[in-house]
Amino acid sequence: MSKRPGRSYCFDVRTDPITHRKSAIFSCHYCPAHTEVTISGHVHNPEMSVKRCREKGWEADMYTGRLVVCPDCQRKRKEDRKVQSPTKPTLVPRPPAQQPPARTPDTPDTRTKIRQLLDGFFDDKLGTYLSDGRGPYSDERIAKECNVPVDQVRQIRETAYGPIKMDPEMAKLLTDVENMKAKQLDLAVDIDHLQRKVNDALKARGLA
Ligand SMILES: [Zn+2]
Repeated sequence: MSKRPGRSYCFDVRTDPITHRKSAIFSCHYCPAHTEVTISGHVHNPEMSVKRCREKGWEADMYTGRLVVCPDCQRKRKEDRKVQSPTKPTLVPRPPAQQPPARTPDTPDTRTKIRQLLDGFFDDKLGTYLSDGRGPYSDERIAKECNVPVDQVRQIRETAYGPIKMDPEMAKLLTDVENMKAKQLDLAVDIDHLQRKVNDALKARGLA
């Protein structure tokens, strides 16, 4: 399964052989757990599937498989954060594709925080930082938020996640698309609402 924009989604779509209903299957990045959400409507709206997956308590994303995390693993991750013992390994991704190398961090706290931000906001396939509500992430921003030299962030990113490949123009285009998709999702929810109203109104008038 590919996990990047452009391209294919990070979940599988399955058609039930008997009912012919389609569902989207999300697999946890950290354990074998998976969850299934029913796809309604004639056209598959992937954002809706992601939204339904989130409603079930999962962390989910359309393209980035490592952002798909089951409720159990979310809890484990939180506990890991609380314990923060250097001898206790933090949750390791299921496929050992991007094992961060063994380094001597300044503190386990700092290393964990840098890695969490890179996990969440660096797309290693595209080689670009992603945005949160406050704008795009960068080595500099992570360094500032973790209170470490930018070289340390750059080093971890280069070793464990790879180089920055995306030029700013391309990165902006991607951000624009993501923002547009977020609007599309809002619109899809509105349409869904409206359609239900229409259906009720038709029923009330004996027309459906
Ligand atoms: Zn899991």
